[in-house]
Amino acid sequence: MPLVSMRQLLDEAAKGGYGVGAFNVNNMEQIQAIMEAARETKSPVIVQASRGARSYSQDKYLYHLMLAAAELYPEIPLVLHLDHGNSVETCKSAIELGFTSVMMDGSLMPDGKTPSSFDYNVKATREVVAMAHAKGITVEGEIGCLGGIEDGHGTGLDGLSHLTDPAQAAEFVKQTGLDALAIAIGTSHGAYKFSKKPTGETLKMDRLIEIHKLLPNTHLVMHGSSSVPKDLQDIINQYGGKLKPTWGVPVEEIQLGIKNGVRKINVDTDNRLAITGAIRKVFAEKPEEFDPRSYLKPAREAMKKVVALRMTQFGQAGHAGDYAPVPLSEMAARYAQKKAA
Ligand SMILES: [Zn+2]
Repeated sequence: MPLVSMRQLLDEAAKGGYGVGAFNVNNMEQIQAIMEAARETKSPVIVQASRGARSYSQDKYLYHLMLAAAELYPEIPLVLHLDHGNSVETCKSAIELGFTSVMMDGSLMPDGKTPSSFDYNVKATREVVAMAHAKGITVEGEIGCLGGIEDGHGTGLDGLSHLTDPAQAAEFVKQTGLDALAIAIGTSHGAYKFSKKPTGETLKMDRLIEIHKLLPNTHLVMHGSSSVPKDLQDIINQYGGKLKPTWGVPVEEIQLGIKNGVRKINVDTDNRLAITGAIRKVFAEKPEEFDPRSYLKPAREAMKKVVALRMTQFGQAGHAGDYAPVPLSEMAARYAQKKAA
């Protein structure tokens, strides 16, 4: 099946009351891990690539790997999403390449570091919405800023310093007409999210619920939502790694989010941890090995396990065959119709 619109996946998820994991990729093994997990659990899939991933893998390699995935797994609805587009230009280049969904992160200036003004965010996001919807492509925006830095993107600040204001979020959705909204509720990018298990003081689920009440028809997105499980940290440290103790977002909090309008959950760190742990284990136990497959295979398998578990926990498992893909041209016609109405 061709790559499909993210809007369709999220609309279906809203109908079914489940969430969809969005997993970051940089290479073939990560795409393979996600697709195998999707087949095993019969899940629809969102694969996402950041600007850093696009430059690491080169756009064309990445895009053609995704086309291969779509061809090899015809039963899986598959979205290629741009994670944290920093400018209208970046979103435009992704759309031209063939991404079926883009994030315009206008919560930060194009440097990807400095928090922007509300007016700047509205203007940039509106521009991307107009350009993307004309082609049936989905748009995610962000209001409020997450903490931390990932792939050179982020404020580097504490997750609580720029929380999303619910009334401002409602105004933002009204003015931009976007499809999905990333909100800041205390999470951070990267492995070091919380220095102890998060509580209501550090992870503001009440704020998420408040936003959902004001925007019951907007698909909410949780960024920085790896759970950073201790067993994955332990494997790394057991085989010579030096991770400092850290806590992520507990899966039960994500599940509470899913009950309150969260349809897309971004996960990257957990997969990175799984891959690194598996590779370290081979290096430690079989130092005589030098065939890259000897460690990339277990790495791919370890990531697949994490992804399959998240797909089950988020509720997307079993839903791959629920619907036929809507062509992007049809999505474009629907947006045009809505605009005219
Ligand atoms: Zn993010």
